[in-house]
Amino acid sequence: MAEPVELPGRLAILPFRNKVLLPGAIIRIRCTSPNSVKLVEQELWQKENKGLIGILPVRDAALTTSVGPVFSSGADSEDGISKPQVGASDPHKLDGKKQQEVIHWHTRGVAARALHLSRGVEKPSGRVTYTVILEGLCRFSVLELNTRQTYYTARIAPLEMKKVEMEQVEQDPEFISLSRHFKATAMELVSLLEQKQKTGGRTKVLLETLPLHKLADIFVASFEISFEEQLAMLDSVDVKVRLSKATELVDRHLQSIRVAEKITQKVEGQLSKTQKEFFLRQQMRAIKEELGDNDDDEEDDLATLEKKMQSADMPSDICKHAQRELRRLKKMQPQQPGYNSSRVYLELLSDLPWQKASEECGLDLKAARERLDSDHYGLVKVKQRIIEYLAVRKLKPEARGPILCFVGPPGVGKTSLATSIASALGRKFIRISLGGVKDEADIRGHRRTYIGSMPGRLIDGLKKVGVCNPVMLLDEIDKTGADSRGDPASALLEVLDPEQNKTFNDHYLNVPFDLSKVVFVATANRMQPIPPPLLDRMEVIELPGYTPEEKLKIAMRHLMPRVLAQHGLSSEYLQIPEDIVKLVIQRYTREAGVRSLERNLASLARATAVLVAEQEHSVPISKGVNQLGSPVLESRITDGTDVEMEVIPMGISNNELSNTYTITSPYIVDETILEKVLGPPKFDDRETAVRVATPGVSIGLVWTAFGGEVQFVEASGMAGKGDLHLTGQLGDVIKESAQIALTWVRSRAEELKLVSSKGINLLDGKDIHIHFPAGAIPKDGPSAGVTLVTSLVSMFSQRSVRSDTAMTGELTLRGHVLPVGGIKDKVLAAHRNGIKRVILPERNAKDLAEIPSHVLSSIEILLAKRMEDVLEQAFEGGYPWRKHSKL
Ligand code: ADP
Repeated sequence: MAEPVELPGRLAILPFRNKVLLPGAIIRIRCTSPNSVKLVEQELWQKENKGLIGILPVRDAALTTSVGPVFSSGADSEDGISKPQVGASDPHKLDGKKQQEVIHWHTRGVAARALHLSRGVEKPSGRVTYTVILEGLCRFSVLELNTRQTYYTARIAPLEMKKVEMEQVEQDPEFISLSRHFKATAMELVSLLEQKQKTGGRTKVLLETLPLHKLADIFVASFEISFEEQLAMLDSVDVKVRLSKATELVDRHLQSIRVAEKITQKVEGQLSKTQKEFFLRQQMRAIKEELGDNDDDEEDDLATLEKKMQSADMPSDICKHAQRELRRLKKMQPQQPGYNSSRVYLELLSDLPWQKASEECGLDLKAARERLDSDHYGLVKVKQRIIEYLAVRKLKPEARGPILCFVGPPGVGKTSLATSIASALGRKFIRISLGGVKDEADIRGHRRTYIGSMPGRLIDGLKKVGVCNPVMLLDEIDKTGADSRGDPASALLEVLDPEQNKTFNDHYLNVPFDLSKVVFVATANRMQPIPPPLLDRMEVIELPGYTPEEKLKIAMRHLMPRVLAQHGLSSEYLQIPEDIVKLVIQRYTREAGVRSLERNLASLARATAVLVAEQEHSVPISKGVNQLGSPVLESRITDGTDVEMEVIPMGISNNELSNTYTITSPYIVDETILEKVLGPPKFDDRETAVRVATPGVSIGLVWTAFGGEVQFVEASGMAGKGDLHLTGQLGDVIKESAQIALTWVRSRAEELKLVSSKGINLLDGKDIHIHFPAGAIPKDGPSAGVTLVTSLVSMFSQRSVRSDTAMTGELTLRGHVLPVGGIKDKVLAAHRNGIKRVILPERNAKDLAEIPSHVLSSIEILLAKRMEDVLEQAFEGGYPWRKHSKL
């Protein structure tokens, strides 16, 4: 190609329709029309590849813009060498229309030679065809076109520059700079292409060896550019023009490749992320298969889920709903959001006990009674009521009896009574704690549209218990509270209403669940906070708390055996005599229930357990020594270890122990051991006497969630301007009570003999400070009225209040004593605290009926109508003002 071509004066012409063959380009054409076949045969085939032909672009009339000789003719079609040779149409088919159709012949063409020729015969017509691979050599211009032969011929003149001319141009600085520019751009393109296709640098070698003006043609020939641009390139006979045009085209091509590359990179970036995930998943699956660990194979999982659903015994419409959900799930990808929530939901549906119930054994009332008796001491009325309840259920199992609600302070056996009911009925037991529930969704669940939504506590409890007819304890029903998140109590109303709970609607579940088979039992510490509509659906059974005697019996019969068993002990190892238990009750507990008593007994058992456990490995030396002196116990005391949060001491050698103890006889706890284990007494009967010894202190009775309690009130006077100071976390009502009390005392100062004569201000030069000890506990309520007055009078008169007398009652400004609530709890608390006399408002007399008779028999109840009556009883020997009173 590098050597110059000698062009003849005349060339056979093959017309190219709307296409240009540029010098240096190689194309393959298929000739089928008689004219072109003839041309190839005569000009190429017979000359054995030595012949030359001219390729002349022709343009359809529609595309005509350029000027040139206009002839009527058809043109052969051709195809790029790289493409398969299909659909090449034969221009000579157009012969019939020759005359009408205007075809424009271009005036410049390219001489070409055949690189390869092949001849074919079409069957069945026997028509001869040629496939020719042509290489463009050099430009020529048409001087005259001859159309009279079978194929076209033309008289031509060469257009390429002569060698001398070329040498001249090569000196031209413009040409030099153009060449440099072209070369740089071309080099850039080649590098880019090589980088993309990772091929060697063959094209770069061409760049170095071929003359640039020829290279320009070769480059442009390989681009897909428009016919117009191809023609313009063909027409660029001047090498400078040609170079600048080629540079422009190469540059454009370069840019388009870059843009395309950017786009591909972007797309690839996105693709590769998903592809990466896909590959990783494939790998994970392969690893799992290899390990035989196919447990969480999603398909298997779904199949298991489906099976579980089928055996869940759902009602038919719910089953349909579940199937629908399952179909949806199957269509989802495990990674898809919502897949997991849908699966968890279906798991719940299939876990719920739709029909599954524990079999109700024939209810044996006698056995139930025995069971209740053996589990609980006392509580005769409560047990009787439970037996009645069970009897009604036995006679009419489907009857909707009332819902039992045990009300009382903690530790009085509410929960354990409910478990006894469950075992008497032969049903499973589940406790739902409602304490502190403020959100309606806790009862009813969150809708599934929320992230992290879950069913309410009831449905969750039923799932856990696995049967649809358990005894369900709604614990601390009084501790639910309403706020902005709805009212849990109203949701509970629906639960407890036999009409509505057949179709209980949990928001998460979104299908009705039948709660009617559940036996509900509720517990509460207080009745007041329970909303009246809820209270209305329940039958309240009160458990007021135990007297010390009852506690003693409970401890000896029920708590001790249980505590010992829990610690792996028996009476062989540890004995706590009744007297000692009594001391535990008196000195270490002041509760209405028996929970802290049980804890204290457990502490004793633990201390013994340590000894027993350690001694098992040692050789007993002396027998029957069970008194104090245990290093374990001693170290506990010296450490000051808290009894409740026991730390078992380490580092005591077995020898030390074995020298002192043997397990052959039981440890009998005595008072000293008691103090060593439980610490110094927390409560003391003498305490009240000590506290009220100073004037200004009186004993009140208050009511808390833990039952009744004794509350001291302290008043103190000091130099000041007549201000009243109050401390001890007080609410508004109690502050007002204090104000009323002070006003009443001031207005009666003279009658009360607090001032010598009328008109003298009691508070002259004085400030009063009233304090309610246990300052960390919030206090409120009107029932401290009489106690406040008593402490003020005691302070002003400097006389002490009786230490055996406690009081409660609201005071009016005129000195009337109004009734208050919680009388039973308060009297029981007084009893527990060793109080012998209790002053109550007269109108509370009716409440005395609730108080157990043995308590009443050990306490003197004094009823007061007016404040004066209270004062009369509160001071030793009555209050002296009465003798002089005109009232
Ligand atoms: P509550 O539910 O009222 O707070 P629990 O039912 O949990 O109290 O009772 C606390 C402990 O006291 C339990 O171990 C229980 O067995 C025991 N207990 C309470 N009252 C009695 C009783 N009358 N007889 C026997 N044990 C009792």
